[in-house]
Amino acid sequence: MPVPLFESRTQFAPLREEILGEIAEIADSQQFILGEKVEAFERALCDYTGAPHAIGMSSGTDALIAILMALGIGPGDAVVTTPYTFFATAGGISRVGARPVFVDIDPATYNISVPTLRECLATCAHRVRAIVPVHLFGLCCDMEGIKSAAAEHGVPVIEDAAQALGAEFPGGGRAGAMGEFGYYSFFPAKNLGAFGDAGAVVCRDAADARRLESVRNHGMEPRYFHKMIGGNFRIDALQAAILSIKIPHLDTWIAARRANAAFYREEFARAGLDPITLPAEPYTHTYNQFVIRAPRRDALAAHLASAGIGHAIYYPVPLHLQECFAHLGYKAGDFPESEKAALETLALPIYPELTRDQQREVFAAIADFYQT
Ligand SMILES: *Cc1c(COP(=O)(O)O)cnc(C)c1O
Repeated sequence: MPVPLFESRTQFAPLREEILGEIAEIADSQQFILGEKVEAFERALCDYTGAPHAIGMSSGTDALIAILMALGIGPGDAVVTTPYTFFATAGGISRVGARPVFVDIDPATYNISVPTLRECLATCAHRVRAIVPVHLFGLCCDMEGIKSAAAEHGVPVIEDAAQALGAEFPGGGRAGAMGEFGYYSFFPAKNLGAFGDAGAVVCRDAADARRLESVRNHGMEPRYFHKMIGGNFRIDALQAAILSIKIPHLDTWIAARRANAAFYREEFARAGLDPITLPAEPYTHTYNQFVIRAPRRDALAAHLASAGIGHAIYYPVPLHLQECFAHLGYKAGDFPESEKAALETLALPIYPELTRDQQREVFAAIADFYQT
């Protein structure tokens, strides 16, 4: 039987009546833009993350752009981030006219390396205005190290928690709520998925929250008067209402992802499949992705494809080597750990409703590849 990398129909089934009821209510009211449903979701997100303010956005990508616009970051400014992330992190920085400055990752966690970040901040020739650490695959970065480095340089931390809603850094708090700003994506394959695109920003400061609300709506305040240039970054009321129904289940879904990860670990340990490196878990991982490092990765991927086992490569080309960033002047060899990860990593199915039998099939296909 084929095993999908991700599947969400099973999760939808028990929530079907409740969600369709809510969609019907909104259809009857015809209140589609902002309003009560959006405010209720924003409150739920504050309660869940511990952040004082939440602002629903049209996507994770737009959430980052809105934060950068609210901070007045643009041409002549630089923003430090990792080259081993989804494109949107650096894409957003570029789209406001700022320059992404990359810092290599820690090979164990795939997150930005704090010693390397410190070196970069000490020597960077550009005017650094913010740091965007990415909690990749659902594991928090070393927020203690990042926050102290940022504080020494007087720049805000904007957490990319798109893959990590619900993750925690020990003693620090929940992903997104530790920096000055954090943002989430509710793309359907994230741990909390909408029925389309949606995102959110959380922040600590009330004045920042007001500015973000304004940026989300063309910088309009009051209606048809614009002190600043914003955009249309509004979350749909429909998406917010669906997310409000789903968020109370998030911790259960994360626990199921973690149990699936633990089962893979047992299977790999029992079979002694040494060449495979399993994800590091220095503290609680929320496993938006379960990413292994595998020798002969591309041949393994081809083998899994022929066995009908879902898998993906996150990400095959680090951002400093993307064609669209050639003007930044980076070259192969600049970020060796990111380049190595791009060649060796492979994501396996980990979604909450995955069954033990499906996991055994995934494991058997991998064992088969290395033992023949
Ligand atoms: C998904 C994702 C984003 C962008 O979110 P969208 O809602 O798809 O715009 C940004 N950063 C990371 C790391 C992501 O995984």
